[in-house]
Amino acid sequence: MARAVVKLGSSIVARDDGSPRMDILEAVCAELAVRHYRGDEVVVVTSGAIARGMRALDLLLRPRAIDELQAASAVGQGKLYRVYDELLRGHGLTTAQVLLTFFDLSARTHYLNARQTLRKLLDWRVVPVINENDTTATDEISFGDNDFLAAQVAILIGADLLVLLTNTEGLYTADPRTDPSAHLVERVTDFEALSELRIGHETSVLGSGGMRSKVVAAEMATAAGIPATICSGLDEGALGRALDGDPIGTHFPPRPARYGSFKLWLRYAKPAHGTVVVDAGAARALREGGTSLLPVGIIDVHGAFAAGDAVAIAEGPMVIGKGITNYTAAELHRVKGLKSAQVRELLPRATEEAVHRDYFVLA
Ligand code: GLU
Repeated sequence: MARAVVKLGSSIVARDDGSPRMDILEAVCAELAVRHYRGDEVVVVTSGAIARGMRALDLLLRPRAIDELQAASAVGQGKLYRVYDELLRGHGLTTAQVLLTFFDLSARTHYLNARQTLRKLLDWRVVPVINENDTTATDEISFGDNDFLAAQVAILIGADLLVLLTNTEGLYTADPRTDPSAHLVERVTDFEALSELRIGHETSVLGSGGMRSKVVAAEMATAAGIPATICSGLDEGALGRALDGDPIGTHFPPRPARYGSFKLWLRYAKPAHGTVVVDAGAARALREGGTSLLPVGIIDVHGAFAAGDAVAIAEGPMVIGKGITNYTAAELHRVKGLKSAQVRELLPRATEEAVHRDYFVLA
């Protein structure tokens, strides 16, 4: 029995005008039903709520403002889910709508609840149909098109495979539309080597991911020991081959697991909004002692960020890690270099740690 997470990007789910690509969705749901009846467990992670909402609202262009994207998603999500529910119901399957945020996966109790719910659904032979909860979170809207969310879900449920369906055959050495020498990369074991490729940041008309976020999602899943495949959602046979483990698209074999899911997300997917420069003692403690960062160890702050944002932590010009800050940039300017008692006098309600060890990863 295998457990697979299948992610469908906006361009697979919807046409450029936002209407659902029923032929593709039917084929994917039929394939998932075959697997289900064979005893496999399948989980769908789907984008397309914004695209679907745009159509319902007669918006011709994807909005840019975050609140408009969130509202468009709220309009589209129910309609998007209904398509999967009806198609899978046609094959006799029961589905469940699950909306998650990375915050849900960062707080341990929420993480455990999400995992428990998903496990129970799988026990009950229900197919979870997951999207980001765009009303409260904007991570995947801003960048990712649910690629990171799919990797997180794969890690959360201990999947055997992550399949990212997209509108190209897989990862190419260059953009095949403009470079005739571009060829498909069939297997990726060395992510460092990929930095030489010009991986497209370009996104589709509807979604926010592009190839880059797919490769990062694959990097995240494989770092947790889960293999990943990026393949075409437009080619009907591709999903079946990927699920069978046959060569198709670009495959990323698993690597030894290093971090838990939240830290993988922080390391690979969460962009840093500024830099906190620390002194040598704090740097050593973070690197060797696995401790939290206190304001006293901070010597400088660059950039504008809010509490809850990710920031790079640097020793001089060297970035040593990334963490979620409990303070805004303005607050850190006030308290940097101060001992905890002095910080409490200035900001009585602030937490002691500027960056808690549970929310820090080494670079
Ligand atoms: N959660 C978003 C959606 O379903 C992600 C896709 C995007 O970035 O457009 O539409």
